[in-house]
Amino acid sequence: MSVHDDIDRILFDEQQIKTAIDRVAAEVSRGYGDRGFTVVSVLKGSCVFASDLIRRIPNRIELAFLAASSYGAGTESGELRIDFVPTGSEIEDRDLLLVDDILDTGRTLSKLREELQRRGARSVRTCVFLDKPSRRSVPISADFRCFEVENLFVVGYGLDYAGRYRNLPYVGALRRELYS
Ligand code: 5GP
Ligand code: MG
Repeated sequence: MSVHDDIDRILFDEQQIKTAIDRVAAEVSRGYGDRGFTVVSVLKGSCVFASDLIRRIPNRIELAFLAASSYGAGTESGELRIDFVPTGSEIEDRDLLLVDDILDTGRTLSKLREELQRRGARSVRTCVFLDKPSRRSVPISADFRCFEVENLFVVGYGLDYAGRYRNLPYVGALRRELYS
């Protein structure tokens, strides 16, 4: 038995992901021009995406991490708790690129962006691996994104279900009987 057995179908395979990351990395790099910036990766979900993305960006960047968890049951996100934020010289007067795995209702990213601005960031742009625009409840759109997805619960490439499946090298839909 392996994690692959729990996947119903693959939405984005390794080659599609690589192609999308090359495109987004070029957009990000162009977006900042000659300026350096700090990539703020939201743990844990974006660690796989962020580590692939930064290796395609030639600008002078730094890397920081932020940890947030949402306390919701199953596949619904609940109250957001910020567990860990970069502080002081890591964000004050810095241009930040906030990187997350998926933009769903938008609550997480808008709260995190606000928090970084409140802590003195000069600018905050957002970059997400996946975007589910049909689910948005807070008006926010990502400055950069790899893929749009339908309203479907997905796992892999950093995204989990109950802590599992982050190690899948592709994005897939979980077999429905495993979460409903
Ligand atoms: P938002 O605050 O935008 O509703 O939620 C963002 C967070 O919800 C993501 O960082 C992710 O943890 C979780 N999430 C939303 N949709 C999915 C999904 O389809 N699959 C997984 N694994 N997590 C999701
Ligand atoms: Mg998450």
